[in-house]
Amino acid sequence: MGTRADLAFCPGCRRAAPRGAIYPDCRRPCDAPAETYPERLLETVLSQDTTRAGMAVDVLTKRLHEPRAIVPLIMMSHSQGDPYLLVLSARGMGWLGDTQTVPVLVELLLDEEKPFVARIAAAEALGSIGGGEALQTLNRAQRGPRPSVAKTAIKAMMQFQCDGRHYERRSFSAVLDRVSGCLSRIACSSLMRSRPLASW
Ligand SMILES: [Zn+2]
Repeated sequence: MGTRADLAFCPGCRRAAPRGAIYPDCRRPCDAPAETYPERLLETVLSQDTTRAGMAVDVLTKRLHEPRAIVPLIMMSHSQGDPYLLVLSARGMGWLGDTQTVPVLVELLLDEEKPFVARIAAAEALGSIGGGEALQTLNRAQRGPRPSVAKTAIKAMMQFQCDGRHYERRSFSAVLDRVSGCLSRIACSSLMRSRPLASW
């Protein structure tokens, strides 16, 4: 794969290609100017101005649920140096809720070298996306050495276990078995309150 400078993005589908290349489905050269509102927002995600980038992520993921945002969000997650960009990208992935971003979030959450604020955002995002891989990773992260990350991982697990969309009885019991000490008591009592006992 070339460096970022060699590549451009198709304004329609956001796939990366050498500058000027044309994807048959879009029939526009990669590096053609953005035309529609979502296309302009997709460009703004990678803007140097992090405030504008943050607003673009917000609108694209929370309001428009734009799946093409995945490509710029993943690129943002590779940015070095500024923890805010990692947080922004993880949050956007969580709001978008697409399981394609789970491997990226898993890597971020489990990397002890990454800024803890970004790892916390990754845990929260995995909690809102849900699914088996997210659950396994959160479960692993709750045993990690940094308390703030471990605590968020536990909260995130509870969040998606309480959320009917991703509810899985078997994995849920497996997690509860492993959540230790008083946290497990707190978690159980809050779940009992939110879900009638008979439905378990
Ligand atoms: Zn395209």
